Amino acid sequence: MNLIGLPTHAAVEAAGLQAALATIVGPAHVLTGSDAAPRLVDHRGCYRGNGVAVVRPGSTAEVAEVVALCARHRVPIVPQGGNTGLCGGATPDSSGQAVVLVLSRLNRVRQVDAENDSITVEAGCVLADVQAAARDAGRLFPLSLGSEGSCTIGGNLATNAGGTQVLRYGNARALALGLEVVTPTGEIWDGLRGLRKDNTGYDLRDLYIGSEGTLGIITAATLRLFPLPAAEKTAFIAFPSAAAAVAFLAAARAGFGAALTGFELISGPVLDLVARHQPDSVLPYGAAERRAPWHALVEISGSDTDEHTTTRLEAVLAAAIDRDEIIHAVIAAHARQAQVLWALRHRLIGEALRREGGSVSHDISLPISRIAAFLADIEAALQRLLPGAVVYPYGHLGDGNLHYNVIPPANAPADARTRIQRLVYDAVVTEGGSFAAEHGIGQLKPSELARYKSPLELRLLRALKAALDPNGLMNPGKVLPAEA
Ligand SMILES: Cc1cc2nc3c(=O)[nH]c(=O)nc-3n(C[C@H](O)[C@H](O)[C@H](O)COP(=O)(O)OP(=O)(O)OC[C@H]3O[C@@H](n4cnc5c(N)ncnc54)[C@H](O)[C@@H]3O)c2cc1C
Repeated sequence: MNLIGLPTHAAVEAAGLQAALATIVGPAHVLTGSDAAPRLVDHRGCYRGNGVAVVRPGSTAEVAEVVALCARHRVPIVPQGGNTGLCGGATPDSSGQAVVLVLSRLNRVRQVDAENDSITVEAGCVLADVQAAARDAGRLFPLSLGSEGSCTIGGNLATNAGGTQVLRYGNARALALGLEVVTPTGEIWDGLRGLRKDNTGYDLRDLYIGSEGTLGIITAATLRLFPLPAAEKTAFIAFPSAAAAVAFLAAARAGFGAALTGFELISGPVLDLVARHQPDSVLPYGAAERRAPWHALVEISGSDTDEHTTTRLEAVLAAAIDRDEIIHAVIAAHARQAQVLWALRHRLIGEALRREGGSVSHDISLPISRIAAFLADIEAALQRLLPGAVVYPYGHLGDGNLHYNVIPPANAPADARTRIQRLVYDAVVTEGGSFAAEHGIGQLKPSELARYKSPLELRLLRALKAALDPNGLMNPGKVLPAEA
């Protein structure tokens, strides 16, 4: 309301739009005020925005109608899945002009085709539910992330999510066979093909995957399934150096082949942080072994028997101990112990870092052959920049992906965060790495994109955006930097 108590022009327009949205999805699924508030902030409370309404369509047809309505009125749309993203991609800006389109009601498994090893699901399906549906059909859907209990398949594809099984099965893009997408004008592209070979022109599927909601809205996907492993074995291993961990990764690839499904690197300080902040948590081994500078959580799984898998794992570990590559290793005796080890990686590390607070985090990737030298060089450079800074690295070593966290010293200057990020990203890019490995760009890193992409690459990216979303209504302000 304005000062004399009359509704403003903007409020009248907003009310009209909300009413029109309600005729499409039903009034219960157009949220405003405090009902909308949880969807206008990301799950960590790092990004806050505003919106005309949060709308929850119940079908692809309703998504298309909502998008067409918004396109007619030039209203921007922010697609949102489980809202677990780490770059603010699903949070609208503060203008209050956008509609936040939440896909949670598109949560049906449409088809399981066990013979074709594929499953077709709607975009709002929670990842853990898709894993369960595949398991019920005697198959494996291998995408696995710490947020799998709340992130959605649409969000996984929109961010090309990685996780802990990429080493063996690839990231979300590698797991997608086909997509259904609502375009920015409200048309429905049915690309739900369950094909492994399909060279029929430019690959629209791969274009939408990883586009973070800036080119269209993914409403369903056909995904690849795999045989359920007959046996899974998890080991926790202490290394004398990062170079030894990298060397063991090569040995494990040679020794296990495709059965090597996970290789998660954890630094000694990260393990200490967990012990300090969660003293009741079950840690893999005692304080003496924990003093090792590096550790890894390694998983092998496949069609071999449990007994044979254990024998192979023990043999590869014993050979590495003989080479002094490994200081100490434990193998989970049963599935429950393995779950405890994985909880450390999936949940406890993140919680410990949150409790410690103040961390400057980087989601980076490098050629695996450069990782050990990079870790040593960058830590030395950080100490020169800010003596006393503490680093907490961990990550998916099998994919060359590190989560590199730095806590500046207490007396650090106000611009310490920016200086740390510049140092780390410059070093990563110099080494041929990426400043955005698996979490995407969102609203966090468009300026890094502007800094590190070549002018040609930026021009091509902008040309794609302009071709597919000429009015710039899909998730504005995300991924691409504003034009100078
Ligand atoms: C504890 C924890 C662990 C994590 N671990 C990993 C990890 O190992 N690997 C990893 O890659 N990420 C990880 N993440 C980040 C996050 O979970 C993933 O990016 C996930 O894929 C996001 O899914 P979501 O449904 O929550 O998407 P949201 O957060 O809702 O959205 C993310 C982006 O996708 C867009 N989007 C969402 N749905 C659609 C759709 N249907 N169509 C078009 N665009 C859409 C949004 O606009 C936004 O830009 C983790 C997060 C947490 C909290």
